[in-house]
Amino acid sequence: MAARILNGNAIRDQIYGELASEIAALANAGIRPGLAAVLVGDNPASKLYVNSKIAACQKLGLASFLITPLASISTADLLAVIDQLNRRDDVDGILVQMPLPRQVDAKTILDAVDPAKDVDGFHPVNVGKLVAGRPNLVACTPAGVMEILLRSGIPLEGANAVVMGRSDIVGKPMAILLMHANATVTVCHSKTRDLKDVVRRADIVVAAMGRAAMVTPDYIRPGATVIDVGQNVIKDAAEAERIFMDFPAKLETFRTKGSVLVGDVHPDVVNTAGAFTPVPGGVGPLTIAMLMSNTVRAAVMRRGARVPVARASQS
Ligand code: NAP
Repeated sequence: MAARILNGNAIRDQIYGELASEIAALANAGIRPGLAAVLVGDNPASKLYVNSKIAACQKLGLASFLITPLASISTADLLAVIDQLNRRDDVDGILVQMPLPRQVDAKTILDAVDPAKDVDGFHPVNVGKLVAGRPNLVACTPAGVMEILLRSGIPLEGANAVVMGRSDIVGKPMAILLMHANATVTVCHSKTRDLKDVVRRADIVVAAMGRAAMVTPDYIRPGATVIDVGQNVIKDAAEAERIFMDFPAKLETFRTKGSVLVGDVHPDVVNTAGAFTPVPGGVGPLTIAMLMSNTVRAAVMRRGARVPVARASQS
């Protein structure tokens, strides 16, 4: 039987609906949450990501500020840009779009963002709070995965969860969030032995490796929930044919566009999993939704004393 599809677009819309009332309450108090996006250089993929984040701000009525330093900027000059944004009262969230040019020390830049404005949740202070069980601003993609699981009624307590990937932005915070939700968590990576056997024991699989369609049905215990974080662009016709052999609509997309998006999970898993997130339309929309949610949260936390919004007391 085909798996239940966990529709990320529908969950995003639900979250936007909830945010709208918080944003309205802030507006009544004269506060408009603002997100500053720092886009260095002219990487087309980065531009696309930043534009979609700014479009989401506009849709929700948040202020957005786009700062576009030249690709040749030095670490010191970019630090000065961050310092300015840290000081601005109308900027509640700062996101620095990765990757940065090679001459810029990315860690130094990310560490310079005021933790109270770190809406990506990458600052060591926010990572520390997450580990300590006092989540504040949490990395958007793993936070979005939790929204999908919780809002879809997937049981987490006592479940065996396997996270494939241990990056700072997805795998590690994902594992911590699942552990805090009382799942029994195993983190796999490129050195994991008997990977297939480990993953096959999972009730919940989160795949975040950046390996196109690697997780085939033989990795998945029948009925398991499979969350596909991967986003891989296939440009090779033979590879597209191989992966999407039984999915003519995807092959048609490839023929029309010359490329097609695939996750880390093979599409055939639809016949083995109990529930799964599609690519596109699964985790992706939630990443931006959580960025919006973090921006509103940051505004309430930083300027909350000036407004009677219930969320200000949450932490
Ligand atoms: P990353 O920093 O490259 O980390 C990849 C992780 O996967 C590493 O921990 C690596 O292990 C592990 N890995 C790689 N190959 C493996 C293999 N064959 N077997 C087991 N583990 C393996 O990637 P990332 O930034 O976390 O992103 C992962 C994927 O998620 C990418 O496709 C990215 O585009 C996507 N993504 C999507 C969203 C979204 O909004 N949907 C957001 C962020 C990322 P080692 O540590 O041993 O090297």
